[in-house]
Amino acid sequence: MVSKPYGDLVGVRPGKLAANMLALGFPPAEIAHRLVLERGVDVSRARLLVEVALTQQRILAPQGGRSELVAMYVSVPFCPSRCAYCSFPSHSLEQYRRAKREQYFAGLLLEIKAVAEEMYRLGLKLCALYIGGGTPSTLDATQIHALLDALSACPAWENQTEGTFEAGRPETLDESKLASIPRGYRLSINPQSMHDETLAVIGRRHSAQDVRESFALARSLGFANINMDLIVGLPRETPREIGASLEQVIGLKPESITLHMFSPKRASRFGGGEAWERMSDKDAREASDLAATKLRPFMHPYYLYRQRAILGGLENTGWSVPGKECLYNIMMIAETHGVIGVGAGANSIFPVPGEAWRRHANPKDAALYLKRLPELLDEKRALLCAWRKKDES
Ligand code: SF4
Repeated sequence: MVSKPYGDLVGVRPGKLAANMLALGFPPAEIAHRLVLERGVDVSRARLLVEVALTQQRILAPQGGRSELVAMYVSVPFCPSRCAYCSFPSHSLEQYRRAKREQYFAGLLLEIKAVAEEMYRLGLKLCALYIGGGTPSTLDATQIHALLDALSACPAWENQTEGTFEAGRPETLDESKLASIPRGYRLSINPQSMHDETLAVIGRRHSAQDVRESFALARSLGFANINMDLIVGLPRETPREIGASLEQVIGLKPESITLHMFSPKRASRFGGGEAWERMSDKDAREASDLAATKLRPFMHPYYLYRQRAILGGLENTGWSVPGKECLYNIMMIAETHGVIGVGAGANSIFPVPGEAWRRHANPKDAALYLKRLPELLDEKRALLCAWRKKDES
């Protein structure tokens, strides 16, 4: 039988209902009570939804009512190798030769410049930046420098801003790359598991020791805000392995930990028929509860979302020490402000009061993205312009 910890709440954002009720002035205890009674949500998940909604309400308060604030996602769709569960629009480095990567990079800089100028012209303000992919740390130090220069030259920056640079694969990091990133950036160094056998099975070419060394290097260079991702339910792992990975990661003292439930996508190796043994819902629940118990003394949950066929019907949860929550993650999931995506596979979404959201998706394939870039720029300008006009009307 499939577990339904979220009762009849469907979709990737189960927290929206709690957030809306909170905005309408319902007391938190009543919201949790109604989620249990009326929607069949487990008591623990109802409390989690309300806790996250309260945290997000507090963090988003300074942005409240400021519809000109926008977050930006920058896609660098290259990875050292393809993880067996991944369907992200990433191209392996072997598959995508250096000359082509440089062409992609030039196109990306062009899009950033064009979008930034249009945002400035329309009075939009950039308040949160996320450089993801893929693995942005596959860029070399000179490219990282050029990318961050192009982004910092964006005339639309708001004073109070944050940036995340995803350095997901530790084997891609070195001192010269890290030295190219301003120390105020939040880094994301993602082990997924601290067990070398698991890392080999899922197609990652790094070890747990690489994770420890990259983390120590980043700290020694002064990075004071580091996130680490772990996955519950990877092949051959039980709650015991997950507890052990978590203890090692907590021992490094990152500022945030994002706990994902394994949910291989259809377009991935595991989603496309390669055999793997799915963790039982009972074990997934046990691992998730164990993780929460281990994280609670240091961190609190601040955003969560679900995916299609997510393990145990559970959720992916972002945990953070207070004050180090990622605003971009909250804006993405809470859908309170526009998010503009640049680069191959990047999506843009804009809330329009009283209407369906306006959405735009760049092609996932890097070659197609480059080919279509001139028309994509026109589409983006038109989208931003129409959204801004509608928003002001
Ligand atoms: S590093 Fe991330 S984006 Fe790249 S293949 Fe693995 S899961 Fe996908």
